[in-house]
Amino acid sequence: MAVITKIEIILLKIPYPHSFRIALAEMDSAQNIIVRVHDNDGLVGVGEGCPPLFVTGESPETAFEAAQLYAKILLGKNPLEIDTRLDELERFMLKNTAIRCAYDLALYDLLAKHAELPLYALLGGTKQVIHSNRTIGMDTPEAMAKTAKLFVNGGAKSLKVKVGTRKDEDVARVRAIREAAGKGIPMRLDANQAWDELSAISTLNAMAEYDVQVCEQLLPYWNIEGFKRLRERSPIPIMADETIFDAHDAFRLASMGAVDYFNIKLAKSAGIHGALKINAIGEAAGIKCMLGGMSESLIGVSAGAHLICACPNIALHDMDSPSHFSEDPTIGGVDFQASGTVTLRDAPGHGADVKPEWIENSTKIVISG
Ligand SMILES: [Mg+2]
Repeated sequence: MAVITKIEIILLKIPYPHSFRIALAEMDSAQNIIVRVHDNDGLVGVGEGCPPLFVTGESPETAFEAAQLYAKILLGKNPLEIDTRLDELERFMLKNTAIRCAYDLALYDLLAKHAELPLYALLGGTKQVIHSNRTIGMDTPEAMAKTAKLFVNGGAKSLKVKVGTRKDEDVARVRAIREAAGKGIPMRLDANQAWDELSAISTLNAMAEYDVQVCEQLLPYWNIEGFKRLRERSPIPIMADETIFDAHDAFRLASMGAVDYFNIKLAKSAGIHGALKINAIGEAAGIKCMLGGMSESLIGVSAGAHLICACPNIALHDMDSPSHFSEDPTIGGVDFQASGTVTLRDAPGHGADVKPEWIENSTKIVISG
């Protein structure tokens, strides 16, 4: 029987050359937790958690601490019994979804390595090339239009646009980007909870002529009834992000008919296990999903890409976080191009790991029995 013998926990600090602004925050670096789960067969499963304080309530410091508590629950147990292991983690300490995601990804990576299969094949999927949208952070309409043109000229197949200040500013952003990008490029908006119901409906009506594919999380995370009311009147389809973490949220939203799309993020769903459940509920309800991200390196992005290959209902792909880094701290995994094109490789598991020099130079701790 496979047994977990040792867990390394690493806090990576990855600087951004340019800060990135959304309605909730301005970010100048990613601080991600990597877990490397070793077993008695000499295999290592690697997972990543991106703790976003303003979405899951986890900081890099609390996640680093929580990772150590969870490690003690896992040590000495069979890593291949994924459902049971993840259930034990949740029962021991609720929430903390980003750091539980790190363990979920590591356990799936380990299982696929035992099976000597790439993760997408283990999950029953078919290898494909994925086109992530490129994301434009909030700025002046002129600066955002310039970035849009750069992305489209660089081969981007779709754009995601951060909005969420005043109506006139947001409409000016969308107008300028549509003019710069030209017709035919799908444009997705994300207001990151910035609007109330009245301003949302008025802003969406003013944006309708610019061919917006979907608008994400217009309202505060708690306002599910507001989403339902908005959906009945909106000229633009609506997506839930910060409102949906797990299968229970997905079931509630689907039952109410409150949104057109779910945005699954591994940091919210606590990894692949929870993401599969959300996607199944979406599929049963006729709701397409997006796979979104926080500030993942190519470890989290690789795991997400393998998941997409196994879930045709995850139709929209927003996984361009590595484009913010001047250097990715990982080796292996998927190939990510600046155009947003993601190509899978056939190594066992998700195939990504941390570069030894990044392990060497980062805050880390080893938990063993
Ligand atoms: Mg979002």
